[in-house]
Amino acid sequence: MNVRTVADLGPDERAALFDRDSGVEAVRDDVADIVSQVDEEGDVALRRFASEFDDVEVGNIDITDAAERAYEEIDDHVRAAIEDAADNIRAFHERQRPEDWREAFEGRELGRRFRPLASAGVYTPGGTAAYPSSALMGVIPAKVAGVEHVAVATPPAEKVNPVTLAAIHAAGADAVYQVGGAQAIAALAYGTETVTSTDIVVGPGNRWVTAAKAEVRGDVAIDFLAGPSEIMVVADGEADPELVAADVVAQAEHDENASVVAVTDDEELAGAIADAVEAQAGEREREAVIRAALDNDASGVFHARSMSEAVLFAEEYAAEHLSIQADDDEALLDRIPSAGSVFLGPYSPVAAGDYATGTNHVLPTGGAARVTGGLSVDTFVRSTTVQRLSEEALGELRETITTLAEAEGLEAHAESVDRRF
Ligand code: NAD
Repeated sequence: MNVRTVADLGPDERAALFDRDSGVEAVRDDVADIVSQVDEEGDVALRRFASEFDDVEVGNIDITDAAERAYEEIDDHVRAAIEDAADNIRAFHERQRPEDWREAFEGRELGRRFRPLASAGVYTPGGTAAYPSSALMGVIPAKVAGVEHVAVATPPAEKVNPVTLAAIHAAGADAVYQVGGAQAIAALAYGTETVTSTDIVVGPGNRWVTAAKAEVRGDVAIDFLAGPSEIMVVADGEADPELVAADVVAQAEHDENASVVAVTDDEELAGAIADAVEAQAGEREREAVIRAALDNDASGVFHARSMSEAVLFAEEYAAEHLSIQADDDEALLDRIPSAGSVFLGPYSPVAAGDYATGTNHVLPTGGAARVTGGLSVDTFVRSTTVQRLSEEALGELRETITTLAEAEGLEAHAESVDRRF
């Protein structure tokens, strides 16, 4: 793979990097059609799309019982790994639970109250790879928030991956459906005969899943667009090119539409990273997927003239995963506000956060990290403001309220205050 120079990038190259959409826009029309068919035809459409896109004739769409059985039947060491990861994810998310508060503001008692949403739909991908980890990442924060009904949808199969099913059960899901892709998002948003509609639809997925979330947004709440995986590695001359390459190749194996980038101020290191990526890609089982991701216009190894230029490049990219392999990592991080999840130092591979540190791996892609963080307990709670005023406190505000109400031409508002005195 060639090393490109940040300073030489033309407008088209910059647009491909910074306005990347991972192929989502190209499927928007097809996805709109799938979503409306599910909305109109319900289970019939789910079965038809399972046959068309997943090559499966689905019997029961509801497989909640199968998840419980899978949990009992999987290998002990796999169950232990699921529980270990689940414990860490639960602990990190417990720490996020917001507390209600009330305080006096010059006689006015004001506060915030947090309550869970009633229901959530969690998409757990499972097309070209299985994602039991995503089941933990989606269901656990919802349950920690106190969501009563958490439903999971995962692609259908002759036999749905038992580890995925076991993880869904371990995370505490209340219902499990075998339905994948855009049709799953539509089913969780609008409901069918079998699938109960939910208040919010969350979770990661490929471009069809991501386009469907954009399609239903507005009719139902969504978390954000968590599409094909991305990594940005910012490295200085001290970084180990083999480790940088390993992290780049690992994210590339998710999807042909993944976007994987490394940037450094050291030209020799840039060349070494590019060579190591080439070599490692050839050794991996999912080489074809990796090579397709490396060929994307939003992927590449870049040489910057300085670490300042590298930092600006990373900030403009606003990656899902940001790895900083540099002596001065905390100072560099301070200058990159936009990133979904950050990995500092040589012993923090992105894969650690993908599975087991406890942080969430459902993260914004396509530059959405400029405006949002990843999935968290906050995703599943709504905040309500509360106020109580004494007669004296209302009296003190009376003049301000009535003046503004009259300025707005809303005389009845002013009267509702005056009448109390
Ligand atoms: P998936 O479950 O997202 O997609 C599989 C479904 O795609 C199938 O069930 C099918 O219905 C649908 N599909 C496939 N081809 C189609 C077509 N031609 N037309 C219509 N629908 C079609 O599983 P996947 O494909 O393995 O992708 C998982 C994705 O999740 C990857 O892109 C990965 O990078 C991403 N991911 C993102 C995050 C994040 O937080 N951003 C986290 C984990 C995984």
